[in-house]
Amino acid sequence: MKRLFIIGFFFTFVFSSAQSTFKRTLKLMGSRFDISVVAKTQEQADGYIDAAVEEISRIEKLISSWDSNSQTSKINANAGIQPVEVDRELFDLIKRAIEISKLTQGAFDISYASMDNIWKFDGSMKTMPSEEEITQSVSKVGYQHIKLNESNNSIFLDTKGMKIGFGAIGKGYAADKAKQLLRDLGVEAGIINASGDMNTWGRQPNGELWNIAITNPLNKDKVFAMLPMDNQAIVTSGNYEKFVKFNGVRYAHIIDPRTGYPSTGIISVSVMAPKAELADALATSVFVMGKEVGLDFINQLNGVECIIIDEQGNIFYSNLIKPKQ
Ligand code: ADP
Ligand code: MG
Repeated sequence: MKRLFIIGFFFTFVFSSAQSTFKRTLKLMGSRFDISVVAKTQEQADGYIDAAVEEISRIEKLISSWDSNSQTSKINANAGIQPVEVDRELFDLIKRAIEISKLTQGAFDISYASMDNIWKFDGSMKTMPSEEEITQSVSKVGYQHIKLNESNNSIFLDTKGMKIGFGAIGKGYAADKAKQLLRDLGVEAGIINASGDMNTWGRQPNGELWNIAITNPLNKDKVFAMLPMDNQAIVTSGNYEKFVKFNGVRYAHIIDPRTGYPSTGIISVSVMAPKAELADALATSVFVMGKEVGLDFINQLNGVECIIIDEQGNIFYSNLIKPKQ
């Protein structure tokens, strides 16, 4: 009896330790994705990763503003004209985005997108837009003008020229959906890394939690924090390459929807939360709020932490992850 037990134990041990981490890197949603899964064989991992890629591509088709056939583009094309019926999934995503706008008092707003005509962060913009241009464009921004009709899942942007875009929440949403799908398929552990937006679950094959390294964009070679992730997401906002400089002021590619001006002062915000979608949206919001208001805001939310790096390279932590001095 005792011997049987010991053999049984030995078998489980060998069985579970036979898992390894398999990773694939590819381009999805215009960004670099690394998908890692814990599996028994390469073949098994390939099947899982293929399923995740398919899921992320499906979401990309739904929310892309570049693809003129996407439901999102149809909503934008019909701004000020008529409501557009969409999949419940997109309807719900827009509904949650509006909830985050309310929570952040408008710092986060998917209708920031009409500002894209004015501010370009790809190096093509040589002069600062005029105040008139900015005022004109920002008059088309405002989540209050996104009208939802629950009875037929339709969305109506009630002002001509209005536009929505999922640049600040889409990757997080896709990472949540891919994680959910893989868990449903029985994958015990993994990491979806969408250009630095990390969504984790389970543990490494050696039984330890996944550790995520945080670097300062001003000194990328030096890791200043290693954070163990227990079934959490950590998302960093602040694509360090995307900014413009006018009269010595560095404008980040994140726009304050209330003024129409890009945010200044912060170069990176990392937010930790149970879901990547929320972390993604809040990281963008803190950027807009600035470090004082942003930290205060995050400190009031349960289960959400953040790290902010300002233009001078100073690092600020929310209360529960602040290193002891
Ligand atoms: P990153 O691009 O560094 O990952 P974000 O997740 O914050 O950072 O996404 C920034 C993108 O979100 C911008 O490129 C733009 O498409 C969009 N965006 C900009 N400002 C806002 C805002 N205030 N609210 C919602 N989306 C925004
Ligand atoms: Mg974001």
